[in-house]
Amino acid sequence: MSQVIAIGPYSDTDAAALARDFDARRLPDLAAIATLPEDQRRDVVAVAFMGHDPFGGAVMDLLPGLKAITNFGVGYDAIDVAAATARGIRVTNTPNVLNDDVADLAVAMWIAQARDFEPAMQNARSGDWGRGVRLPLARKASGRRVGILGMGRIGREIADRLAAFKTEIHYQSRSRKDTPAGWTYHADPVELARAVDDLIVAVVGGPETEGFVSAGVIGALGPDGVIVNIARGSVIDEEALIAALQSGAIRGAALDVFRGEPQVDPRLLAAPNLLALPHIGSATVETRAAMGQLQRANLRAILDGRAPETPVN
Ligand code: NAP
Repeated sequence: MSQVIAIGPYSDTDAAALARDFDARRLPDLAAIATLPEDQRRDVVAVAFMGHDPFGGAVMDLLPGLKAITNFGVGYDAIDVAAATARGIRVTNTPNVLNDDVADLAVAMWIAQARDFEPAMQNARSGDWGRGVRLPLARKASGRRVGILGMGRIGREIADRLAAFKTEIHYQSRSRKDTPAGWTYHADPVELARAVDDLIVAVVGGPETEGFVSAGVIGALGPDGVIVNIARGSVIDEEALIAALQSGAIRGAALDVFRGEPQVDPRLLAAPNLLALPHIGSATVETRAAMGQLQRANLRAILDGRAPETPVN
């Protein structure tokens, strides 16, 4: 039995590299660990993990020799890091290499919502344009006031891009950041929402930020506002968002991430002012290759007894 288990929907390249470099055994999901015979589970020292299913202490206890969980992705909210630390298990992630892709996507979603891409594409593709169906005017993106909720690595990349669109940049973080002159800090998310036209969510997921974009934040944005979320579905109070989209309390939303994804609340999908994407923030050939390399570098370091490049705990 291999000492390394690889879990998740890896590309053929990454799956081949994990097999070649680590003799990794592929499992379809975390639940499959429980189906392995005990003597095989005892041999496992590392899990190369890709996915969003909860990886808690009970699963870790099925692998008594586990020393490492190397996550494919920067967000590790699915992994109970406290439980891992308590068991002496190292957790790693893949930060920075995906910043450009996720920031590019956030800005693309923001422009797409301002300029009503989805109905416009439908108008052209369906032949409505040729039949003389005219669309209502959209909104100008450049020059708007945009709030970044969570000025971390990705939030900063989003803000840097937005600066080129002559936007007025506001942000919220737990502490004030060293930013270019003119960017405005807000300690409170509601204050941030009140000060801007649109809100882009780039904060971590997990229990500490559950419902961070609350009914109060959504209400403070107002009827001209658009919410873009590339972070995690758990960060938004989805009931409040659905109500706001249905009533027109905000102009629209563009979401790459959802609660309970890949199952999405049908009320959200039915909202005409929602642009929905299937969690594609880092899904490019180049970035996924870089993420795979970093995951394997972390795995190699831990197996060799060295410090991993990007540790979480
Ligand atoms: P990061 O550099 O760690 O930044 C995270 C931000 O979250 C920081 O602004 C941080 O605040 C804030 N934060 C952390 N813990 C918090 C807490 N307890 N309460 C309030 N705010 C808190 O992370 P990143 O690399 O930018 O990634 C951000 C997130 O994007 C990831 O965690 C992941 O969930 C998501 N993501 C999504 C995709 C996608 O495919 N859509 C791809 C990559 C990442 P401070 O500034 O105060 O430290």
